[in-house]
Amino acid sequence: MDAHTTTREQLDAQSLFIGGEWVEPSSSARIEVRSASSEERIGSVPEAQEADVDAAVAAARRAFEDPSGWSRWEPSKRADAMDRLADEYEKRGDQLARLVAAQNGMPISIAEQLEGGFPVAVMRYFSGLTRTAQFEESHPHLMGGTTTVRREPIGVVGAIAPWNFPQTLAAFKYAPALAAGCTVVLKPSPETVLDSVVLAEAIIAAGLPPGVINIVPGGREIGAHLVSHRGIDKVAFTGSTAAGRSIAETCGRLLRPVTLELGGKSASIILDDANLDLAEIGENLFGATFLNNGQTCFLGTRVLAPRSRYDEVVGMMEAFANSLAVGDALDPATQIGPMASERQRDRVEGYIAKGSGDGARLVTGGGRPADLDRGWFVQPTIFADVDNNHTIAQEEIFGPVLSIIPYGDEAEAISIANDSDFGLGGSVWTADGERGFDVAKRIHTGTIGINHYMVDPSSPFGGVKDSGIGRELGPDAIGNFQHVKSIYR
Ligand code: NAD
Repeated sequence: MDAHTTTREQLDAQSLFIGGEWVEPSSSARIEVRSASSEERIGSVPEAQEADVDAAVAAARRAFEDPSGWSRWEPSKRADAMDRLADEYEKRGDQLARLVAAQNGMPISIAEQLEGGFPVAVMRYFSGLTRTAQFEESHPHLMGGTTTVRREPIGVVGAIAPWNFPQTLAAFKYAPALAAGCTVVLKPSPETVLDSVVLAEAIIAAGLPPGVINIVPGGREIGAHLVSHRGIDKVAFTGSTAAGRSIAETCGRLLRPVTLELGGKSASIILDDANLDLAEIGENLFGATFLNNGQTCFLGTRVLAPRSRYDEVVGMMEAFANSLAVGDALDPATQIGPMASERQRDRVEGYIAKGSGDGARLVTGGGRPADLDRGWFVQPTIFADVDNNHTIAQEEIFGPVLSIIPYGDEAEAISIANDSDFGLGGSVWTADGERGFDVAKRIHTGTIGINHYMVDPSSPFGGVKDSGIGRELGPDAIGNFQHVKSIYR
């Protein structure tokens, strides 16, 4: 057992979770974490070095190659183990939610659902698929005889998660990987490492065989070492487009399969017949535009408003932003918490200055909340009269900042929505569901909602253009972690 000390949202770990055990790190380097809300130190973990990544990859390789091990188990036996992991995770859901909220500023009410609960749903979805999926099928060989097509696990997976939904986005990777029979080396982001210690405890309690999941907390150098490691067969990444490009280059050179979930700058398209009553749409609008303090890749941060109802939309969005409770992420009443880091707040403030400088009209927000003298807070901010070519309409801000862009007719709304380097999420707001569906079909994006936005674990999730390559979730996601072999008999 690791000699780590833990309170409700304070945790100091002394060891790394590699090969099913808490092991001595190769160096004394540590990652210190501060609370996004209070800026106080809330914990630390050892920082993995290249030698630790090498040990983790070796442990995952041993687990994968074990002739009677994980990759050779009957699918139902793997599914049972995944269900045990889901159960152990669920028992720790509150602690995981509190740790994530303390670290990255996610409001606890959201963290409980998304970081505490969603990974459980994802694990159970993939354990269910493991029981029913066809891993082998035979059919007549066209030239005579029989061909057996086997979906075999691809091997050892390097999984790299960002800080905004650290547990959920990790589960998007390891759950289908485990379903396929792969083993995993998970690298959490340095901003959110404390929760990964609790995930390791859940893995131990669930009795997963040693080395099936290993965890190496570290920054981008360690991530790059993992991506290019000889012992890695597949890379699954979520994070910025810049990092994704660099990872894709490495994987291209190595001919290593990779899936990339990257940034977004999606559109919330308000059609001229939309219901603008905040009492009715506020909760859904929140999930589509401001979720997790704007630190969510799929948000529709470009709000497209018809000129015929432009002032009404601006007024509604102003009232909406002003109604949101900004405060400590661990306060159950908080709707908007702080940015995950000081660096992230600086970035968001830089974009706000750029928006005003480019001539957009600041409707509300734009600064730091006057009543909060610590924590990396930014007020919910609305810009109106934004041109789609403005930097704040083209680049991902990753903060609580929305840009309202006027349009004339529906065709222009679609054209503006598609005039983006990204294509990850989005939403259409209308009183007519069929009309919304027609518009949704014409948006170049990987996912889109009508009058709300909610990721569905049982359907593919991912982006087009600079938002990434490949899809996570849904029945096909297991295929990301398999190669297909034809045996002619
Ligand atoms: P990032 O891409 O730098 O980091 C994400 C993860 O990748 C971290 O674990 C990081 O250590 C690792 N990493 C970074 N560079 C790497 C490399 N070359 N090789 C291997 N691993 C590498 O993201 P960030 O700096 O933490 O956040 C900045 C921006 O990223 C945000 O403003 C947002 O635009 C975007 N982002 C997107 C998502 C998403 O879900 N799509 C999530 C988080 C961040």
